[in-house]
Amino acid sequence: MPKCEKCTFFFPIPEKDMDFEPGKGDCVEQQQDTKGKFWLSKPVSENSEACQRYRPRN
Ligand code: SF4
Repeated sequence: MPKCEKCTFFFPIPEKDMDFEPGKGDCVEQQQDTKGKFWLSKPVSENSEACQRYRPRN
């Protein structure tokens, strides 16, 4: 199974951020509704098993 680490929606927490932890990141996906675009974010680990929305990075 692929891991979140290889997903285009995975963004690692930068080392300078206060909540930095090795392997910790955010899953950030762009959504769109009738009012426009918005983003949903949730904490994930780079070693988490990929979900059904997994999209490999190019
Ligand atoms: S939770 Fe799913 S969409 Fe989010 S980074 Fe992991 S595999 Fe990608």
